[in-house]
Amino acid sequence: MDRVQAIMSRLSGSGSTFRAMTPREYAQFRADSMNAAEGNRHLEDGYSCKACKNKGYIVKVVEDQDGGFRQVCAECRCEQVRRSILHMQRSGLKNIITDYTFEKFDAEEDWQLALKTAAMSYARNPEGWFFLGGQSGCGKTHLCTAICREFLLAGRAVVYMLWRDDIVKIKAAATDSGEYSGMIDRYKKAPVLYIDDLFKAGRDERGNLGISRADINVAFEIINYRAINPELLTIISTELSVDELVDIDEATGGRIFEKSFANGISIARDRSRNYRTKKAVTV
Ligand SMILES: [Zn+2]
Repeated sequence: MDRVQAIMSRLSGSGSTFRAMTPREYAQFRADSMNAAEGNRHLEDGYSCKACKNKGYIVKVVEDQDGGFRQVCAECRCEQVRRSILHMQRSGLKNIITDYTFEKFDAEEDWQLALKTAAMSYARNPEGWFFLGGQSGCGKTHLCTAICREFLLAGRAVVYMLWRDDIVKIKAAATDSGEYSGMIDRYKKAPVLYIDDLFKAGRDERGNLGISRADINVAFEIINYRAINPELLTIISTELSVDELVDIDEATGGRIFEKSFANGISIARDRSRNYRTKKAVTV
């Protein structure tokens, strides 16, 4: 009731005289009341949104053709972010908002600190692409995910591509041109794309990487499109170095090198830098 009186008082100007709300004011009053309620969307994904108070929608007033007013619910921008988080969680990055922080990345050695500093600097001021290649098990996914986390918290949706899984789905759709282009466009045109473990593939009995011409064509189609549209941000982690990428495909590797020149780091192969094997030794 206090709230109604406060609004009436504000509308009346002096605070001493009341007048009835106009239909538009009443419709807005109802919308404001609905917008003031708290939701619980953040309990599912850890992402808190001030704009909709975690309801996922914002109520707006629209005028009908007959001059009446009514409330409509518009999806809040945070829903796109929530879809990104959900997809990343389903792809294996559980608790992305709470666990993949820069603080939780252990930087005991200088090379780790250099990686962390570069990732934090890119998250703050993303220009060009961010590339982390080389040695497996040294936290590349953690740092790239931490960059995505910062973008998500700032309200930017991120498309996550787990290479070894998503490449299989894309290739399976190759016979249906509509499905294929819809699927690949999602990766080509995303304002922010994170490709995790690019060209991750097993090796055959002769030690050759199992990367097919079809894999290379898909990678080139995505990477080339993004390279010529500079507003699109791309984050790439891979066990391969830039030299190895160029060996696999000069055009794709060259594009990555060119775009991530300022933010590209290849970690030299050194088993002591693999936290998984480190753990195995110390346990
Ligand atoms: Zn929201």
